[in-house]
Amino acid sequence: MPYPILYIVIPCYNEQDVLPVTAPLFLKQLKKMSEAGLCSPDSRILFVNDGSKDRTWQIITDLSAQNEHFCGICLSRNRGHQNALLAGLMSARLKADVTISIDCDGQDDIGAMSEMLRCYADGCEVVYGVRSSRKTDSFFKRFTAQSFYRLMQSMGVQTVFNHADYRLLSRRALDGLAQFREVNLFLRGMVPLVGYRCTSVYYERHERLAGKSHYPLRKMLAFALDGVTSLSVKPLQLITGLGSIISIVGFFAIVWAIFEAFSGNTVAGWTSTVCIVCFLGGVQLLCLGVIGEYIGKIYSEVKHRPRFIISETTDSTEPVQDRT
Ligand code: UDP
Ligand code: MG
Repeated sequence: MPYPILYIVIPCYNEQDVLPVTAPLFLKQLKKMSEAGLCSPDSRILFVNDGSKDRTWQIITDLSAQNEHFCGICLSRNRGHQNALLAGLMSARLKADVTISIDCDGQDDIGAMSEMLRCYADGCEVVYGVRSSRKTDSFFKRFTAQSFYRLMQSMGVQTVFNHADYRLLSRRALDGLAQFREVNLFLRGMVPLVGYRCTSVYYERHERLAGKSHYPLRKMLAFALDGVTSLSVKPLQLITGLGSIISIVGFFAIVWAIFEAFSGNTVAGWTSTVCIVCFLGGVQLLCLGVIGEYIGKIYSEVKHRPRFIISETTDSTEPVQDRT
């Protein structure tokens, strides 16, 4: 079997400080992997400039002019990490057999790519890079990040714990991902929905080699909210649950209020007020829940996600896919 063509996809936003440091490291790793027979010598490092306002695109064009292994695409404006990453993956899909996405700041262990390619050679189509520890993160970053994964899980979003966007995807997995047409992207929740054989590779997360993080608390919270609302209708289902509980409690409160009225312990008007409040509170929340259930269905429909992805067939024809 010929060696697979690998594209390393790297989104970059205002990274003029770190790119000159990490670009040679990526190139060194690519050479190492192609010499080890893990990928083809025609493999590439694809930078995605996400509408940077500094010299990032200039640096990328200079790198591409100096070395054929570097190439780049430039988005018309800043579209955010997830969109930039998807733009890179979808561009690479046309040329690559396999892609590895990684941030450009050197925080994720570049050396783990060799292990990812070994897993790919063993037949895995998705390999998640998972942080084995968060020692280099501040207490605050660690706490908020882990709360984020727990929130995702409790809200019914299937994600890999301590995995961000450092992952290998085979061409087939990319083809599967391409069928997800949604515009609110949360790739780490979408990739598990694609399926295929997957595994994890563990690595130590380092400090940023230069520059500063683009994810302050405000953006992290927005990202977490985006993740939940893009992948789960559980918050809507919670309203139905709450509506049912309030209705049951309201029913008992009404029985109690009537009992109190007959016992003569109440002032005039109290019982009718309590009964109306309890009845309307329960009915209103329950109705909201029912509307929520329908909105959840509409929401799933408009996403137009593939209903299935066929991985093998017993005859030699190309499998029919749902949304092709
Ligand atoms: N990034 C991007 N567009 C953005 C913000 C970030 O392409 O709008 C890139 C950034 O250049 C980096 C990656 O996304 O390669 C992760 O960003 P960062 O390292 O700032 O996040 P952190 O590791 O602190 O969570
Ligand atoms: Mg980073």
